[in-house]
Order: sequence, then C-alpha cells, then structure tokens
Amino acid sequence: MESPAVDVASLSLEALEAFVQTLGEKPFRARQLYRWIHQRGATSFDEMTDLSKALRARLAETAVLRTVTKDLEQRSVDGTIKYRWKTHDGRLIESVYMPSPERRTLCVSTQVGCAMGCRFCATATLGLLRHLAPSEIVAQVHAVNREVRKSEGLETLRPLTNLVFMGMGEPLHNFENVKTALELLESEDGPNFSARHITVSTVGLVPMIERFATETDVKLAISLNASSDEIRDQIMPVNKRWKIADLMEAVKRFPVKQGRRVTFEYVLMSGVNDTDEDARRLATLLEGVPAKVNLIQYNENPGLGFNTTADNRAERFRQILEASNVVALIRANRGRDIAAACGQLANVDNRDGHRR
Ligand code: SF4
Repeated sequence: MESPAVDVASLSLEALEAFVQTLGEKPFRARQLYRWIHQRGATSFDEMTDLSKALRARLAETAVLRTVTKDLEQRSVDGTIKYRWKTHDGRLIESVYMPSPERRTLCVSTQVGCAMGCRFCATATLGLLRHLAPSEIVAQVHAVNREVRKSEGLETLRPLTNLVFMGMGEPLHNFENVKTALELLESEDGPNFSARHITVSTVGLVPMIERFATETDVKLAISLNASSDEIRDQIMPVNKRWKIADLMEAVKRFPVKQGRRVTFEYVLMSGVNDTDEDARRLATLLEGVPAKVNLIQYNENPGLGFNTTADNRAERFRQILEASNVVALIRANRGRDIAAACGQLANVDNRDGHRR
C-alpha cells in the first residue's frame, strides 16, 4: 500500500529536515521549503523556483501542501472582512480580518464546528465535525496575508500583526495541533509573530490550561460569560464538568508575564447575565487576578433564543466593574452586519454547504 502523502505545512523545521533527508536531499533544503510555505505563503511546490525541478517532482509525489481555498468573502461597513474557506476535503471554515489604524488582526478557526455546545453560539449548532490540522490553521493566516497584500498593495510579506484564536472551535480541545500551529506562526523562518500579539481563547478546559501555560508562551483569554455556576451551567455545558471556582484556580496558577493580563470575554445577554448583581459577582471573582474584561453585547442568532443587552445596561455593567477596579471595556462589535462578530461564526452548515 502507498504511504499517505506527508502534510509538509504541519511539520516543524526539524521534522521537515528529517523528511527531506528521506528524499535524499541535504537538510538545508528544508529551510528553503519551510520559508516558501510559512514566510511567503506559497500555495504550490511549482512556485518554489529555487528548489530543483527533481525535488519539486519528488515533493509532488510524496507530500501535499495543504492550503485553504476562498469560498466566500463578505465585507462589513466597518472594514471587517469575513472569509469562508474550503478545506481539502470540502469542509467550510471561517476567519475574520479586523483592520484598525493600530493593527491588523485575524481571528482564526481551530476546528470544523465545535463540541462545546455553548447555547448562545452559532458554531455549536454544527457539533464537532473534525479538528483542523496545524497546516489548516496556519493556512488561514497565510491566505489572509496574501489577500491583504494584494488588496492594499503592500510589499511586506506579513501585513497581519495580531492573531486571536477565537473563531470556530475550542482551541484547547485541539491542543496538540494548536500548539504546533503556534510554533510555526512564531518561528523566525516563518511569519515570526511575537507571542505578545497572539491570544488563545478557551471556555475553560481546566486541565489543558496548565499544559497551555507550560507548553506555549502566548496570551490567554477565558470565555466566561457568567459569574455564577447556576447561570454558567445553563449557557455553557462545559461548566457542568469544571465549575467557575476550578476555572479561577487554574487562571490564578497561570503565570502571567510582566505587563500582561488575562482577558475575560463576557457576552452580555439581556435578562441572562447582565444584572448589577452579575457585575458585582464578576468583580468579586476577579479580585487579585490581573484581568481585563471584554464586554460584548450579544449578536442575536436566529433561533437560539437570546437577546442582546441594551447600550445603557452594558455601560452600567462596565461602570460597576470599574468601580471595583476591574479593567473593563465594551468591545466594538465588529462585522455585525456580516455575521462575523463573536458567537456568530459558522453560520454555515457544513453538512449541506448552505447558509442557515
Ligand atoms: S462559543 Fe466557542 S467554545 Fe462555545 S460552542 Fe461556540 S465556538 Fe465552541
């Protein structure tokens, strides 16, 4: 039986060196190949003109260069662009590009669908279809770098400055692949992102937070959304397994580097988690934690039965946190008109490819 093609864009530089040696090549060829993939975002072996024709032919026989193909692009009035990509096996995933005067941020997906079942989230309705490989996570970054370079006429190979892992999927449920993707994204022979400019968000898979802390160096965000177990149990099934107290214990053990804070995402839903009492409880929970709270007014998803919190209620919630010395801001809801905002990703039905 033929051995399966090697997914070269998922390999570390060391693993790629070992692989090119099996093709009878010198290890330094691996660095050339790696740079083509992760620095220049090449989409085919044919583009790699400083590799010999013979090597390119061997690569085409033994390896695959996994990329994602653009399926749909939607532009918001606020400049946000939502990309829908097709994977090699026809699955659909999404990433959201958010430009601002200070930075160019991309929100990436880590799974096709999600197993976490958060009640307010559109992605949850898909269930988990599969994990994304490291190559498919970084391919979203490479593809958007190419798009931005082209549309904004930029010379730089890497116009993106910041990455957030907050798209479809729970990153720590696909930890090994996310970890490899982070290593590729931070590597000097790759896009060379600084760890300070990457944030990974989790609903709170408590045992994985410890591994995340010791095995990666990027920033942590917790998708909290409630300050009591009673409410969190109802909207986030993960809370039945790990209670808020367990989660906060794990966060307190997390080694927060100098000048950094743990971000807490809190989606405000009218009559669910947005009362004064909710805000006061949240402030108490965060005592002694170097935290920053992002308040997000819920983006209504048809059929899920949750409503957004009004502006004045959101502001009152923020003020209560501020009065307790908790840094909190109401996050601009980007891309709301194209369903690219938080909790709205994956308004795509991967089972039949139709939009819901
Ligand atoms: S909010 Fe995040 S973790 Fe929860 S179901 Fe949606 S994608 Fe999954």
